[in-house]
Amino acid sequence: MTSMTSTPGPAGRPLLNRRLAEFGTTIFAEMSALAARTGAINLGQGFPDTDGPEEIREAAVRALRDGRGNQYPPGPGVPELREAIAAHQARRYGLTLDPDTEVLVTAGATEAIAAALLALVEPGDEVVALEPYYDSYAASIALAGGTRVPVTLRPSGGRFRLDLDELRAAVTPRTRLLLINTPHNPTGTVLTRAELAEIARLAVERDLIVVTDEVYEHLVFEEPDGSGGHVPLAGLPGMRDRTLTISSAGKTYSFTGWKVGWITGPPALVTAVRSAKQFLTYVSAGPFQYAIAEALALPDSYYDGLRAELRAKRDLLAGGLADAGFGVHVPAGTYFITTDIRPLGETDGFAFCRALPSRAGVVAIPNAVFYDDREAGAPFVRFAFCKRTEVLEEAVTRLKQLTP
Ligand SMILES: *Cc1c(COP(=O)(O)O)cnc(C)c1O
Repeated sequence: MTSMTSTPGPAGRPLLNRRLAEFGTTIFAEMSALAARTGAINLGQGFPDTDGPEEIREAAVRALRDGRGNQYPPGPGVPELREAIAAHQARRYGLTLDPDTEVLVTAGATEAIAAALLALVEPGDEVVALEPYYDSYAASIALAGGTRVPVTLRPSGGRFRLDLDELRAAVTPRTRLLLINTPHNPTGTVLTRAELAEIARLAVERDLIVVTDEVYEHLVFEEPDGSGGHVPLAGLPGMRDRTLTISSAGKTYSFTGWKVGWITGPPALVTAVRSAKQFLTYVSAGPFQYAIAEALALPDSYYDGLRAELRAKRDLLAGGLADAGFGVHVPAGTYFITTDIRPLGETDGFAFCRALPSRAGVVAIPNAVFYDDREAGAPFVRFAFCKRTEVLEEAVTRLKQLTP
């Protein structure tokens, strides 16, 4: 979210309202335009360059042809998808959900985040969020009139670490909710069971709602404490009744353009979110909802295959970046690598990313855009590895030509 000088409109007032003034154009638009202009390999935005499973694509075609979902689907989502989401949570995590009252289908995770914040936050409420944050968090908090309170993840012991004392200190009587993201974009951190337990303890102690963005739940490569994969926050003691869990088909099934997401939690919270959601999109993605219902029932081998493929790509890009002289924070999850450019003799990620297409023919994202504390984010640059192997190999070859 690069800030834009506000364009004057009628009566000399800025066109863009005060809540959105600081969110001009996203960095992704700027960097993708730069990639297109220079022919650079775009490792900026995190979308796969190949589509998800053929049979799921065909399921969408079938739904379209059979006339399923071509008219407004039910507000909460089609029953088949809500049941498949509940079955997935039960099978993977042992979490039981009532598909009728505890599951809401949204236009991607993005709408789930926006609807949750618009529904729950009063102007002046504080929202504690992990920094660096996914770019829609800050904008959605602002739309809701809330105040964001960042808790910065800092590199320590080979990973970006959450300082639990800092988290505790960030909670005030005005805190309405904690906005958590694990596996974490952009740092690739997977919160440990101990960290999650501490977040849960704090939420219970201070009676806070927790909104947790778990869109990378199937992309955990290292289990930080042998926890056996992704640990949903909603499963921890005291959390079921205060947690809204967000996920999406985009990252898990490589159909980011379908925008099928969901939010699950206790009936009262889900009903509140639905109140906001019904006036944002009301409904979306009709036929795709049926296809994703089938995707959620894919066998474990699909998820194992996805994880193995992306782990290999992670290792390829991480190795190449290290060879090129970057400091590499190997991610435990997600499909992003955060690098440190200081070993290359650089300190300003913005300047570095603007120059990278002409220096090396590659596009990356300066992590500073994900920080309020731009200073803290300045030396970090993010690369996406959800791209074809030959594309990553070519990117690595190009990056090795970088000379400090
Ligand atoms: C991609 C992403 C989203 C958005 O998901 P959509 O389903 O495409 O809206 C939300 N949160 C995080 C952390 C993401 O990386």
